[in-house]
Amino acid sequence: MRMTPDTGLISRAASLINVTDAGPATPPHTSVLIVDDQPRMRESLGALLGSRGYGVELADSGCAALARLEHAPVPDLILLDMVMPGTSGLEVIAALTARELDTRIVVLSGEPSFEHVKRALTQGAADFLRKPFEAEELFSTLARVERALDLERRARVAEKRLTESERLHRFMIDHAPDMVYLLDPEGCFTFVNDRAVALLGWSREALLGRHYASIVDEQDLESARYVFNERRTGDRASRNVELRLRSRLPTHGVVQGGVVQGEVVVEVTATGIYADGGADTQCDGVFLGTYGLARDVSERKRAQEMVQYQAYHDLLTHLPNRALFHDRLELAVTQARRNKGRLAVMFLDLDRFKVVNDTLGHTVGDRLLKLVAERLRNCLRAGDTLARLGGDEFCFLLPDVSCREDAAGVAQKVLDRLSTPFKVEDHEFFVGASIGISVYPDSGESVEALIQSADIAMYHIKGRGKNGYEFFMPEMNAKFCSLLALERELRNALANDELEPFFQPQVDLDTGVIIGVEALARWHHPQRGLVEPIDFIPLAEETGLIVQVDRCIQRKACEAVAVWQRGSHPALTLSLNVSAAQMEQADFVDSMLAMFEETGVVIDCVMLEITESVIMREMELIVPKLRRLGARGVRIGIDDFGTGYSSLSYLQRFPLDILKIDRSFVQDIRGDGDDSSIVNAIIYMARGLGLGIVAEGVENDLQLRYLQRQGCHQAQGDIFSRPVDRDALERYLADSFIRVGSA
Ligand code: C2E
Ligand code: CA
Ligand code: CA
Repeated sequence: MRMTPDTGLISRAASLINVTDAGPATPPHTSVLIVDDQPRMRESLGALLGSRGYGVELADSGCAALARLEHAPVPDLILLDMVMPGTSGLEVIAALTARELDTRIVVLSGEPSFEHVKRALTQGAADFLRKPFEAEELFSTLARVERALDLERRARVAEKRLTESERLHRFMIDHAPDMVYLLDPEGCFTFVNDRAVALLGWSREALLGRHYASIVDEQDLESARYVFNERRTGDRASRNVELRLRSRLPTHGVVQGGVVQGEVVVEVTATGIYADGGADTQCDGVFLGTYGLARDVSERKRAQEMVQYQAYHDLLTHLPNRALFHDRLELAVTQARRNKGRLAVMFLDLDRFKVVNDTLGHTVGDRLLKLVAERLRNCLRAGDTLARLGGDEFCFLLPDVSCREDAAGVAQKVLDRLSTPFKVEDHEFFVGASIGISVYPDSGESVEALIQSADIAMYHIKGRGKNGYEFFMPEMNAKFCSLLALERELRNALANDELEPFFQPQVDLDTGVIIGVEALARWHHPQRGLVEPIDFIPLAEETGLIVQVDRCIQRKACEAVAVWQRGSHPALTLSLNVSAAQMEQADFVDSMLAMFEETGVVIDCVMLEITESVIMREMELIVPKLRRLGARGVRIGIDDFGTGYSSLSYLQRFPLDILKIDRSFVQDIRGDGDDSSIVNAIIYMARGLGLGIVAEGVENDLQLRYLQRQGCHQAQGDIFSRPVDRDALERYLADSFIRVGSA
């Protein structure tokens, strides 16, 4: 019940309280609760205060006052009569003090004794007025109390602001992305923020009081001494210095990269803290400790190291790459030069790896490369470097070889290790390799020369039939160049139709009749004349050109034989040499069948000759294809039999019809009494497997008679005819049979 000023009341109050001067108007905000049991006193006081702009409420008893104070807003001031029936003024004070209300009590006391007032003051009253009092006295007392209240309120607001801002700072520090710490002058932690706790995996309790050295990586202790507990300030203080800290948390480190488990890499910025003594000049400049920030840069570090790693490693095999190899070789060369020592570079290229990639896809190819890399790695000795230069090319650096034999030993070891087949998924691979070796200083003195020489030597062995090693020799340079030229020329040869099949007749030994021909490639070189297969087939295989060479020769041979079949030789057989690369073509079977159809050759008379080594290597891949061809009537022969390592069990898994005895065995035939020859064993084995036999490279009567007696009834060789061109063969066919040795 707020009271509005009423002039009648004011004059009454004035009479009571001897109003002389109303004084200046009080700020209107202050609210006053007047508690008095005497209605006149209560109301005149109310009127008086109301006239000065106070907000006034009245209560006629201590009880009513307490009830009013139950609800907000509480009045700023309470004018409290001490002597009231029921709840006394002192009791009201006691009740209010317990409730810690934001209000001030001024007691009104009619008591002559000061005792009463004293008790009120000690119990929490702010001031007192002794009745009767002057209006001026009332206002100045109230003003004093108000001022005190105002001050206290301001202080409270200020304090609240301070706590809040402290909380804010605390929040900011704890939620800072960086670790924030304080060290005492001895270097022990006196403060760490939440981030530090999270980053290091130590509890705050464990960190506080601990010396910083115990969380710094040993290798960085020295630099930490000047950085982590920095004593300098300003521009001279440390900024962004990288340190490794020991975390108790496992970091998700890069496997091959640099950041280690439980390690946090931080950039520290720190500054010394010195006392600002203020008035106390004695304290001025005393070192208090260090304030520092540490930013976690592990992630960036890891990324950097990953980039670094990638720049120097092959990500498939995790071997060093060309760049790193180059660096290491440079170092090794410098050392060898200084020590007048030697070193070897081995350039290794897998034979026909491209085929695996092209036919089975890169996933299989990649897995094979990984396995190969693993085996190669196992051939390394301490100090050696193995790098993958790209594709299927690897390079070894053997920094301390005392002689060529050392390097040869390693090369042989590598070849041996590779000779056991590799298994990827369901495929089994026989991986051959060609290794070129260069030796410092003989083959070259610079890094580039050494790598290039080894490369040339490798190319040389490739050109000579692969799977082996070779040391670089200066002559190879010329050969290398001519090999490159040859490759270019062979491409031209295909484009200009310079290739042609020659035919070597196959003869029935009992009748002397020509029963078939083997088609053999020849190259009519515009300058060099007729080029033999040995001089371009290995190169064609290496470059992949063999597929086109084969197709070209086969088609022309089919065309020729189809003509003869339509003429006087309807059952003339045609043997075609097939390379591994050709068989691995996805459309091998279909394109073969199409070719037979287009040329009109009798399918039942076609035999495909596959070398033993190809069968061994590519079994899984080609067996299904050969079965399909076999089902259409094509016969399959195994060429150069006896030169590889075929076991009987291998051959049984293979859809074979004919076995060709390699000419090296035929040449070994010594005389009629020689029953233990390999030829014997081969013929015996072929019979056991129900295979037909054709001997090749028969040169003389001795060989011929021997073969006949052992039960081989078909043969080819110089004794009948060397391979001849189409016209020459046509003349033979016109004669129909060929001289057969007197059996
Ligand atoms: P090959 O398939 O074993 O062919 C038989 C080789 O023995 C032929 O050599 C032939 O001229 C030779 N020869 C035949 N009779 C005698 C003899 O009585 N004495 C001696 N010393 N040699 C004899 P050529 O024509 O030089 O072929 C060499 C190899 O080149 C072939 O061996 C075959 O592996 C390969 N080749 C030839 N033409 C082709 C072809 O069109 N495609 C494929 N992929 N390879 C071919
Ligand atoms: Ca052949
Ligand atoms: Ca052969």
